[in-house]
Amino acid sequence: MTAAQTPQKHYRSCNICEAMCGLEVSHRDGAVVSIRPDRQDPFSRGHICPKAVALQDFHIDEDRVRTPLRRTADGWQPIGWEQAFTEIGQRVRAIQQQHGADSVGVYLGNPNAHNLGSALFLPRFQKTLGSRNRYSSASADQLPHHVAASQMFGAGLAIAVPDIDRTDFLLIIGANPAVSNGSLMSAPGMPARLKAIIGRGGRVVVIDPRRTETAKLASEHFAIRPEADALLLCALIRTIIDDGRVDLGDVADMVDGYATLDAATADFTPERVAGAVGISAADIRRLARAFAAAPSAVCYSRMGASTQSFGGLCQWLTVALNVISGNFDRAGGAMFPLPALDLLARVPRSDPALRKPPRSRVRGLPGYSGEFPVATLADEILTEGDGRIRALFTIAGNPVLSAPGGDRLDGALARLDFMVAVDIYLNETTRHADIVLPATTGLEIAQYDVYFNSFAVRNTAKYSPPLFAARGAQRHDWQILKGLMACLGAAEDSTTPEDLLDAALRAGPYKDLGLSLDALLAHPHGIDLGPLRPCARARLRTPDGRIRLAPALFVDDLPRLRAALDADSATRRDYPFRLIGRRLIWNHNTWTHNARRLLKGAGPITVQLHPDDARRLGIADGQLVTVRARSGRLRLPAELDGDIAPGVVSIAQGWGHDRPGIGMRHAAAQPGASINSLTDDARIDPLTGNAAFNGTPVALDPD
Ligand code: SF4
Repeated sequence: MTAAQTPQKHYRSCNICEAMCGLEVSHRDGAVVSIRPDRQDPFSRGHICPKAVALQDFHIDEDRVRTPLRRTADGWQPIGWEQAFTEIGQRVRAIQQQHGADSVGVYLGNPNAHNLGSALFLPRFQKTLGSRNRYSSASADQLPHHVAASQMFGAGLAIAVPDIDRTDFLLIIGANPAVSNGSLMSAPGMPARLKAIIGRGGRVVVIDPRRTETAKLASEHFAIRPEADALLLCALIRTIIDDGRVDLGDVADMVDGYATLDAATADFTPERVAGAVGISAADIRRLARAFAAAPSAVCYSRMGASTQSFGGLCQWLTVALNVISGNFDRAGGAMFPLPALDLLARVPRSDPALRKPPRSRVRGLPGYSGEFPVATLADEILTEGDGRIRALFTIAGNPVLSAPGGDRLDGALARLDFMVAVDIYLNETTRHADIVLPATTGLEIAQYDVYFNSFAVRNTAKYSPPLFAARGAQRHDWQILKGLMACLGAAEDSTTPEDLLDAALRAGPYKDLGLSLDALLAHPHGIDLGPLRPCARARLRTPDGRIRLAPALFVDDLPRLRAALDADSATRRDYPFRLIGRRLIWNHNTWTHNARRLLKGAGPITVQLHPDDARRLGIADGQLVTVRARSGRLRLPAELDGDIAPGVVSIAQGWGHDRPGIGMRHAAAQPGASINSLTDDARIDPLTGNAAFNGTPVALDPD
């Protein structure tokens, strides 16, 4: 083999999901030869999942949008960037002049959080647009975490993550990290980390209506009823208090509100909640006692506990359990990361009790961090009046498939006067756009993970330059955002993401170590900044630096939880099953469904149900079944699975690529069905505004 034929090696972080795995990409003549784990990456330590190899698919995919497109009566017309920006500037300014700044909305999809340029330039774009009508995927799945952190610690980014490599007891509620590799807990290689806990004599306990891939690795699994997690957490806290096992540990002198927590949870005994939770009082007590007695322990709750009617309560109670068991801000417990680009340090200290969230125009839902819940985006487009959204930017998002009540939102998008999409595909959402602007992704972008280092189980830093140049007329998201800002009248400037990153690193917590962009460029595998360290005293953003253990916002919501103990019987008659979503290891968000390497592992999208339920209804494995909800219906093959609790059904999320006009041919060939044709945008957690996907009441009708 000659030198010219020898593949070159490129090291980078995978940006598909939150796990930030280190990759070794061998390439030759502008093509990928192989994608392997980077065993020298200090964070992922040689782990990757099957999705990483698909990064090459996205780069060469013939379905990618390669040039700006303009909708015409005869179909999509390729246009130049100058024409695109001119038309966008004229239309958006005219709409805002006639109907006000709020008449133009923005929806941001999840990939923006995994893109250095987007993460750094989107705030500038939002400021230029000047609209209060901002939405993002955060209100589909993670708002409860931010609201709890904001209320308890003063800032929504103050999220303490499990110190997973040192804990003796990991209690997982409504999460499946063996598949996800952590979410709001970036932890690549979770299966090995879970086995290591058990291998060193510790315990992993999983609470989930389904015996998940994580549950199969755990020491013990309890099948909880959907939406009963907050009740269980109350009873765990109650047991620890009643046993006299409360220990605030090293943060005892910083905690306010313990007496309020004690009083507020007084009646949530294991006996009172056991029936609704589906776990015996004896098992709840045993679990609480084992958690409290462990040398170190941490409770981690995620999607199943967040995307439900009591998501805010769940996240508050999860933190409270960690605090009262002495497991907050200590090795093996819940700890704050200290990232090199430190967004949390920039948040001014303020009193969470004094904050009054803005309310959305139509339904009065609470805003958070300058955004309103995506569950009300369709209302804001469809409901006449001042401030109605008449034009919309979607940036790297597909809310038609990912937001609750997706079919209603699909119809609402068709009613817009004007829509611009920045995306890599013509998907179920961007097909409604008037102009589509083609962005780069994956191997084509520079990457430093701005957000997820803030939720990582080890402190590291890594910058990856682009491997390949953009193809066709594609531009980086940050370049597109700059073009949009300019066409809306903002002054042009020459700042790059690297300029902003370098300045942030030089001003960050590792400045004394000389951390800078140059330092990262000299370490292509990344730099290890060490394990998590106790740092709550410096990280809290409350004015007095204290922890609010029982914020009034949550305590005042407990009567709603109490009411749920006895409710439900009427709905059960009409819709006897409860729907939960699930994630497949072969796929992530909807945009990954066009990768041929991933499609082969996707399999058919089914509705999973317990064999006992199937027998009662006369449903055979593989038989077509109509799943009926208040807001829609789907027809899917049944998959009988003894791992799912009776009374519960599960459908994988993000599918449904059967709508006309999408340009994702591989996905359309294996379309599946969208769980969000069943979910209801009226079902939310009223405390936070987060969508309540899980627990949607459904009925099954066999063909
Ligand atoms: S878990 Fe998979 S998709 Fe996520 S960062 Fe790692 S390799 Fe990429």
